[in-house]
Amino acid sequence: LQENWSWLKTAPFLKRFDPYSPEGTKPVRAAFVILVRNEELYKMKASVQGIEDRFNKKHNYPYVFLNDVPFTEEFEIGIRALTKAKVVFGQIPKEHWSYPEWIDQEFAKERRAQMAEEGVFYGSSESYRHMCRFNSGFFFQHPLLRDYDYYWRIEPEVKYSCDIDYDPFLYMKQNNIDYGFTIALYEYFNTIPTLWQNVKQFAIENPHLIPDRNSLSWLTNDKGASYNGCHFWSNFEIGNLNFLRSERYLAFFNHLDRAGGFFYERWGDAPVHSIGAAMLLPPERIHWFSDIGYKHNPWENCPQDPERLLKCSCDPLDSASHHYYAVCTLNWSKNLTSIPVSEFISSS
Ligand code: GDP
Ligand code: MN
Repeated sequence: LQENWSWLKTAPFLKRFDPYSPEGTKPVRAAFVILVRNEELYKMKASVQGIEDRFNKKHNYPYVFLNDVPFTEEFEIGIRALTKAKVVFGQIPKEHWSYPEWIDQEFAKERRAQMAEEGVFYGSSESYRHMCRFNSGFFFQHPLLRDYDYYWRIEPEVKYSCDIDYDPFLYMKQNNIDYGFTIALYEYFNTIPTLWQNVKQFAIENPHLIPDRNSLSWLTNDKGASYNGCHFWSNFEIGNLNFLRSERYLAFFNHLDRAGGFFYERWGDAPVHSIGAAMLLPPERIHWFSDIGYKHNPWENCPQDPERLLKCSCDPLDSASHHYYAVCTLNWSKNLTSIPVSEFISSS
């Protein structure tokens, strides 16, 4: 039986779907990454159909689906039917979706009740916190992503409203970009009361990990004393997995994980990725994909260039960049100056 299977693996009809086989033509080792629940099958199908129609039917980049419980057969069949690209389904290891031993679970529970009362978004949800922690520090360590260098995150019920007539993965690679976004917003401060002080503490303990050329000035209006709340909205991300796997990003994540705010507060993966990227990368390694039409309720990015708009179904006036709340998006386009780590550390 074993032998029969190994023959099957080399069958020509299977190879056709594997862009990384020796005959493959993919210029970038890249995949879509999706964390999703079985119940979200139909919303997920809408997203995959959209990305196929607008982009991937011409490229066939593979899809990696992850879940904290096993995917149902119904889910797997429903997704596979939409694409001829390779699709793999994986489960998340328990250590990546549970409480680390230093977390006081009773206190975490009290804090959830407290935050629910304060009206914090997802304040009462335990699973949301595991999700945010997983996306902040673990998805890129999953064995199914081992052979890839770049990822493109998608979620259920997102809309791609324009033809994407170039390869964003290739763009990232050729231009040495480590993090790409479409929408940047202000974070709700009641989800992250002590995040910034922990970021500062990380910098104090690890100044050697923070490069002189950084994008810190995007995160703060007072040279580091306080966080301005700007973050890249992480339901869309195109990123370099090797950046997230780097010593400095992992040290940053582990520092935050120890501090407990994923459970005692409700730190989102969006501010964590964003602060990590802006603190550890120079501006030229972070890119606003202003030309990608993208919507995740209630915000959207819609290109403003009339020629590109011809292949879009969004209204350019609806773009988040016109809204005061998304001023962070526009700030990105301004000339960002670095904040030397010594100055950052001493700001208060
Ligand atoms: P929002 O966009 O912040 O409102 O949060 P979502 O509910 O969209 O969750 C973010 C992503 O994580 C989506 O892709 C969800 O499908 C996924 N997700 C959230 N909670 C869970 C969970 O408990 N299990 C799994 N497998 N996926 C989850
Ligand atoms: Mn979502």
